[in-house]
Order: sequence, then C-alpha cells, then structure tokens
Amino acid sequence: MKKYILNFTVAQFKATVKNIIKEDYKINQIIEWVYVKKVSSFNEFTNISKDLREELNKRFTLRDLKIVKKERSIVDRTIRYTFQTVDKKYFFAVFLSTNGKNSVCISSQIGCPISCIFCSSGRSKLIRNLTRGEILEQILQIENDIKEKISGVLFMGMGEPTLNLNNTVLVLNSLLSNKEFGIGKRHITLSSVGNVLAIKKLADGNFNVRLALSLHSVDEKQRRKLIPNNFGFHIGDILNAGKYYLKKTKSHLTIEYILIKNINDSAINAHKLVRLLRHYELLNPNVQVNLMPFNLIDGTNLKIPQQKIVQKFKNILKLNGIIVNIRQAKGADIKAACGQLGY
Ligand code: SF4
Repeated sequence: MKKYILNFTVAQFKATVKNIIKEDYKINQIIEWVYVKKVSSFNEFTNISKDLREELNKRFTLRDLKIVKKERSIVDRTIRYTFQTVDKKYFFAVFLSTNGKNSVCISSQIGCPISCIFCSSGRSKLIRNLTRGEILEQILQIENDIKEKISGVLFMGMGEPTLNLNNTVLVLNSLLSNKEFGIGKRHITLSSVGNVLAIKKLADGNFNVRLALSLHSVDEKQRRKLIPNNFGFHIGDILNAGKYYLKKTKSHLTIEYILIKNINDSAINAHKLVRLLRHYELLNPNVQVNLMPFNLIDGTNLKIPQQKIVQKFKNILKLNGIIVNIRQAKGADIKAACGQLGY
C-alpha cells in the first residue's frame, strides 16, 4: 500500500527512502517540490530522474484529500472548502483574505469533543484526529486552488489542536521551517479553550507562534455551560497559562470572547474581564482581546448581540487600556464564519 508522503517529517522521509536515495541534495529537491513549489504530482518533479519519479509514485501518495465542495462568499473573498479523507470522512477549512493578506483557517480534528454550545463543529462528536499530512494538505490544496501565496495560518477550524498535540507540533515544525512552508511565527495562531498543560508544553517548545485563548466568559459556571468539555481548568489557571506563554515566548496572546446576547455581553461582564486581565497581569501591549459577536447556527436559540452593546463592551475594555478588536464575521453567508463550521 502506498504511503502518504505528507505524513513523514523530512527526517522520517529520508530514513524511509535511504535504500533508493543516497544523496542529500536529492532529498532536498524532493522536499522543495512538495513544500515550497507545492506541486501535486510526482511527474512535475522535473529535476528528478524519470526512474526515481516512478519509484516515488509507486511508494507514495502526494495528495490524500479531495475537495468535494467549495463555497464562495458573495460578500467578501472567503471560501469554505469541504475536504474528504481517504476513509471518507469530511471536514472543513476556510480561505480568508484581509487587506490583501491571505490566510487559511485549518482543522486539526474531524468533529470536536469540546462541544461549545455556540459552535456547529462542537455538535459533531469527535470522529478522529487529522494526521500531520492531512493538516498540512489543507494549506497546499487551498494555495494550489487560489493560485496565490498563503501567508497566515489559523488553527481555528474544526477541533481543539491541543488534543492532537503530537501532530500539531509536527505541523508547526513544518510551517516554521525555511526548507518547508517558511511561514513567520507571527503569522501562525494556535487556539485553545484552555488546555493548560498543553499550553505550557507549547510554550516550552519554543515555537513562539501566537496563542489565542478562547475564554468566552468571566464566570466559571457560565463558562462550563458555554464550553462543556473545557478540560476543567479554572479561568485563573487558564490566564496564568497565558501569562506563562507570553513570558516564555515573547509572542502575542489573544483572548477570544464570543458575545452572546443577554448571556455574557453586559457591562458587568466587560468590567469583570478588565479586572481579571489586570489581576493576571495581562494588561500589556502583547495582549489583545478579540470580541466576536455570535454567528447564527442551526439548532440553538442563542442570539446575536446588539451592535450598540458590542460597541459598549469594546469601549469599556478600551477605556481601561486593553487593546481590543471586534472581529468582523467573514463568510457568514456560506457558513464559514467563526462557530459555523459544521455539517
Ligand atoms: S469552538 Fe472550537 S473548541 Fe469549541 S466546539 Fe467549536 S471547534 Fe471545538
């Protein structure tokens, strides 16, 4: 059976083909075709001998995912992709273009076990983790499809990346490597609902990418309702992990806060968020709060907050010295906005 080349790190690939490829420069040429030139067939490896191309073709696959659906927003340039895996499972990724910068929001799992009540991905039980190759291939396929360079990657599609930590780490290594994707650490954002132990491991791993903590509530009881399988860490533990991450990585931290009408969008909540960030020493220029007005999904009676309430929430944070941004929903017309990536 053929092996999926993208599931191999460069070192693993080298070890696997050592019987047929002895020279390092040939390995480097192959890696360049796969990750830098991003071609989708071995026939396109034109500086490699025909025999070696045939041998690679016999042993490996270069693409394991199929784009089975592609939906384009009529409002902005957002595209929602539905991918099919070899074992006939489906998941999503989104292409986003903001001020000329192309990013992809990628999935790390098929389904999501966290079950956030405001998210359609959380409605589908976890089917399985995506492999290193399946995570990276989302970027390769989207870049091939739009024929433009992708310069930003968000781990904010289906799944909680820290529950697929081994593959997430392999993917980060590939994204950051100049021999592979070569994407700058400031252009990669990893999100988590607060897997404190994994956040510490990532901080110690020196990837130094941006971290987004999905806080969404300042009240423990309410947070448990919004994020039922939230790893059981207290808000204080999560903010402390964020502080540790910042200190260790000198990177950026985003606190994600979804605003749901009459649930967590009051001025009292905003003031409490200010107090929390102050208490955990997160009032700092490398910390930003992203406010995300809830996006409608089927099967829930949660409501979109009023614009003036969102603005008021933002102003309270801003007046208290917090860098705050209202995240505009992109691709809401094709169910590609935050929380809408469901079946
Ligand atoms: S918001 Fe993220 S963590 Fe929560 S259910 Fe959706 S995909 Fe999972």
